[in-house]
Amino acid sequence: MNQRPYNFSAGPATIPVEVLEQAAADMLNWQGSGMGVMEMSHRGKEFISIYEQAEADFRELLAIPMDFEILFMQGGGLGQNAIVPLNLSRGGTVDFVVTGSWSQKSCHEAEKYAAEVNLAASGESSDFTTVPDPASWQLSRGASYLHLCSNETIHGVEFQKLPDLKALGSDAPLVIDFSSHVASRTVDWSRVGLAFAGAQKNLGPAGLTVAVVREDLLGQALLACPSAFNYQIVADHQSMYNTPPTWGIYIAGLTFDWLKRQREGDLTGIAAIEQRNITKAQLLYDTIDQSQFYVNKVAPHYRSRMNIPFFLRDESRNDAFLAGAKERGLLQLKGHKSVGGMRASLYNAMPLEGVQALVAYLQEFERQSA
Ligand SMILES: *Cc1c(COP(=O)(O)O)cnc(C)c1O
Repeated sequence: MNQRPYNFSAGPATIPVEVLEQAAADMLNWQGSGMGVMEMSHRGKEFISIYEQAEADFRELLAIPMDFEILFMQGGGLGQNAIVPLNLSRGGTVDFVVTGSWSQKSCHEAEKYAAEVNLAASGESSDFTTVPDPASWQLSRGASYLHLCSNETIHGVEFQKLPDLKALGSDAPLVIDFSSHVASRTVDWSRVGLAFAGAQKNLGPAGLTVAVVREDLLGQALLACPSAFNYQIVADHQSMYNTPPTWGIYIAGLTFDWLKRQREGDLTGIAAIEQRNITKAQLLYDTIDQSQFYVNKVAPHYRSRMNIPFFLRDESRNDAFLAGAKERGLLQLKGHKSVGGMRASLYNAMPLEGVQALVAYLQEFERQSA
């Protein structure tokens, strides 16, 4: 295949070429079955084998303990914004830490379902360029859970470490929206009660949503919770209470297989991809920080490895920058409309060569503009 352009989209986003090629090869006839994966019954032995392998690989890659259920659902991250309070709020108070657009959206949605929503902390006064010190969070007593977004896709703010709520004096389970950095790094499951992610950033196509739920949080849904979104019911049916997003699960499975094959020195799997993600992000942040022409405003300790918003100091050059990028095969760099500027998303499937090409272009454009 000819060299493909580098796609910096925030999502749906770039997918490893090997995964796309395998999917294309399997399209009409998966492993001699005479059927493509989209045409299979979700209850047939062919698809069940795809599903079981995908689930086992995801558990292995992210070292998910056995007391967590892995649920393959539909409805996206925004669906989970309602599904989580429907399942976990128990008619009580829920705590929110708002660090950008996504957690803000989650917070507003929860207000429809939870008896009370407590804004424990917000980064809004910093224009979401940093996270309030966890020691300052106003946690409520007996909260049903605390929600945060562990990587803010739009503002480029990432928790490098999940908070230890117990140490902060709260017994609430931690709920994380990890949509845009799932499988980019290891997860400390001892600090997590529930994690959810839409697949379209780092796992595969839109339409699949993964929820990882600690078992003791099942079985507490409000009566109004739709059965298809009741974690207990979904878990009891191995994600097949209703037809699961079969194509998404299949592509995610190919992506997990690709992840398992990754190597960086002695590292494999998630450890390898995490190392590569650190290298990629560092290269771009260093280039931005060393220039007088570009700027990233996020506090260094909270800078996202996955989504890097940046600005040209001379914003009148934005259109020329994007046009030149496109000419060089560097696609979808325009920032989110709520923030402006540029954004480069460096998900797992973005190779180091893509970031090197972007950095070379940043330097070239700066020289040209001098
Ligand atoms: C993309 C994204 C979502 C949105 O998910 P949908 O699939 O569009 O519902 C939610 N949260 C985060 C952090 C995201 O990056």
